[in-house]
Formats: sequence, structure tokens, C-alpha cells
Amino acid sequence: MKVGFIGLGAMGLGMAANLRRAGHDLVVHDLNRTSAATLEEAGATWADSTAGLASQVDVVFTSLPGPVQMREVGTGEGGLLSALKPGSAWFDLTTNSPTVVREVHTVCREHGVELFDAPVSGGPKGARSGKLAIYVGGDAEAFEQHGGILDAIGDQILRVGDIGAGNTAKLVHNCASMIIRSGIAEVFTMGVKAGVEPAALWHALRQGAIGRARTFDRVGDRYLQEAFDPPSFALDLANKDLRLALELAEQFDVPMRAARLVQEDFQEALDRGWGKRDSQTPLLLQNERAGVTIKLSADEVQAVLDRG
Ligand code: NDP
Repeated sequence: MKVGFIGLGAMGLGMAANLRRAGHDLVVHDLNRTSAATLEEAGATWADSTAGLASQVDVVFTSLPGPVQMREVGTGEGGLLSALKPGSAWFDLTTNSPTVVREVHTVCREHGVELFDAPVSGGPKGARSGKLAIYVGGDAEAFEQHGGILDAIGDQILRVGDIGAGNTAKLVHNCASMIIRSGIAEVFTMGVKAGVEPAALWHALRQGAIGRARTFDRVGDRYLQEAFDPPSFALDLANKDLRLALELAEQFDVPMRAARLVQEDFQEALDRGWGKRDSQTPLLLQNERAGVTIKLSADEVQAVLDRG
């Protein structure tokens, strides 16, 4: 089976490498050929265009910034649907709008192509190691037929429902993480300003009931070290996810007061030109408001983690 992969960024590169490692005949494409260098060394073939790739493959993966790029790569002029064979499968790994993937799915059906929305969770590290959750939306029978290939890139393959359900689950997940992290920054600045040393406070929180569920760990690498560059998940992308989550909430008339507060911080951070920095950078705004500086070294963070 010949497999195509478009979008070789922080996530796509690792996932494409794992498809190649699993023995698939791989054809790749990106806006930028240098992104494909390591894959070409590993035996993948470069395609000069989306349609050039699509005409060669039975299954295609896309890992793109968002809905605009996914729709363009799929249905635009010279896009996937201009060249994919009927009977092909398309897994879109992009964190995407459920509405957009449903619309593109309808067009795919007219071409005999089976689209699955399959956003992932696990970050670039998980993309490289294969430790990824993949939230799949798509037809159950078609998933039985085509879904096996996902074992090459993830260790938790979860069909959540029909097309669009994968992204609904993913947006719920990411929106939760953004609200929780902002809440953590709020209580953290309170504790530090009240006189508790940050490493001691972090250790204490990690050992409490919520801490033992490991809710606090995600702020160790970035927020607590004020280490936001280069990003592992860019604020521009996180903001897109938050926007999609809020759009979804609006479609279903769900009030989202906490998420809207988080969005205000995201917007201020974007206005300051932080879009290419890590998605935790807006937490700095809470430090500013509280008048608190928190900057542990990597060794101090590791020392807390080593304490269990
Ligand atoms: P990146 O921006 O690193 O990767 C996107 C890639 O797509 C880039 O290589 C980009 O090229 C390429 N691209 C953009 N438009 C096109 C196009 N029209 N044709 C071909 N290639 C194109 O993003 P990430 O890898 O971080 O994220 C990818 C997706 O995964 C996003 O939807 C994100 O929300 C999601 N995600 C990200 C996670 C993370 O931690 N980073 C975790 C889970 C999901 P170029 O760089 O040249 O513009």
C-alpha cells in the first residue's frame, strides 16, 4: 500500500517517520522541501505537488495548521480530490473545525474518497515516539477497513463517532487544558506572592489529590522556567484550537465564561507578537498582573520531579 503524507511540521515529521519505519512505501509533500530531508534519507519519495502525491497513493495523511489549509489542500485547485483514486482513504490529523471536516467529507464522498478526522494528542515527543492518542471521527465500517494503519503512529486509537466527532473530542480536551493551566498560573502567583518558594509550592501541589492526578506537571517545562522558545506547540495553533472550541460552544449555545477569559489573555499575548512562542506564554500575563517573577532552572524542576 502506498501512503502519502502532507505537512511535515513539528507533528507531521515524527508521524511520517513512524509510517516509514513501519515499512510503508511513503510519498511526502510540504510547502518547504527541506522539511522532508530526513524522510528522504529514510527512503521516502518527495512529490512536487499535492496532486502529484495524490495520484500515486491509496491512503493519505494531512497534518496542517488548521481548517483553511486543510480545505485548500483537499478541495482547492490541484488539491487531493483532483487526483485521489476512488476507494482511497484520507486521514486528516489536523486539529480542525468539526463543521469544516463535515463539509469536506461531503465533497470527498462525491469523489469516492473516505475522509476521517483524526486529530492527535501527545505533542511532538509523542509524534516521534508513537505514544499518541488519535481521536477518530468517521464511518464505522470504513474505519474497520482502513483504520489499521493508525497503529503505526499512535498507541491509543479511539474512534469517537462519525465524521467531526474526533475534532469535537480534541477541542474539548485542548480547551480543558488551556483553562486548567490558566487556573494553575492564577493560584501559583497567589502562593508565590504570599511568600511560598516556587519549587516548594510546586512540590506540595504535585503531592495533593489533584496533583497526584498529574494535573500540575505540564507547567514544569515551560511556565515555571519561563522557557517559551522555540515552541513545541505554538500559541498561534493553540489560539486556533481555542477559537474552534468557542465556535463549537456557540453553535450549541453553551456559555464558556472561563474559556473566554483565557481567550482574552491569548489575544493580548498575540497582540504582543507572541504567536510563534509556546502556547504557555500567555501565562506570563498573570505573572505581570500579580507582580510576581517565577523562573526555576531546569535542574530545580528536575529536582522536584525526582522527589516523586
Ligand atoms: P507546524 O506549523 O509545525 O506544521 C504544519 C506544517 O504544514 C508545516 O510544515 C507547514 O509548512 C505545512 N503546511 C502548511 N500549509 C501547507 C500546504 N498548503 N501544503 C503543504 N504543507 C503545508 O504545526 P504542528 O506540526 O505543530 O501542528 C500541526 C497540526 O497538529 C495543527 O493542526 C496543530 O493544532 C496540531 N497539533 C499540534 C500539537 C503540537 O504540540 N505541536 C499537538 C497536537 C496537535 P511551513 O512550515 O513551510 O509553513
